[in-house]
Amino acid sequence: MDNCIFCKIANGEIPSATLYEDEDFRVILDLGPASKGHALILPKTHAANIYELSDELAAKAMILAKKMAKKMTDGLKCDGFNIVQNNGETAGQTVFHFHMHLIPRYQGDGVGLTWKPGKLSDEDRDEILKKLNA
Ligand code: 5GP
Ligand code: ZN
Repeated sequence: MDNCIFCKIANGEIPSATLYEDEDFRVILDLGPASKGHALILPKTHAANIYELSDELAAKAMILAKKMAKKMTDGLKCDGFNIVQNNGETAGQTVFHFHMHLIPRYQGDGVGLTWKPGKLSDEDRDEILKKLNA
């Protein structure tokens, strides 16, 4: 993708604060961090979102997320860790090159990743099960 900023960053055409790199991925610090150490896993090949990502890269990305969670938790001494991945504008995606957010959490950091829980109605449960298990 010629005009994709994350393609350029992942492939080193634009410099970035890199925490990790291998043949498939680059892990960089987010320029607008939710917390200290907020990082992004970027695949080097372009996929706009999870729907376009290959199974192979999806599997590797999760293994890398696990490794980074351990390394960052040890190194930054954070108290918890969120892994977030947005697909589509409605879900908060702003850069349309697949990425996973690695967000270290610190007690009292005030990072807002929560939602107000609703209540699963019988109607919704039945409708969803019918739609997805057909
Ligand atoms: P999204 O909202 O698409 O899930 O996340 C995009 C993330 O990329 C945001 O957290 C934003 O701060 C970060 N970001 C956007 N442009 C750049 C950039 O040029 N460099 C870096 N390092 N992060 C960026
Ligand atoms: Zn891209």
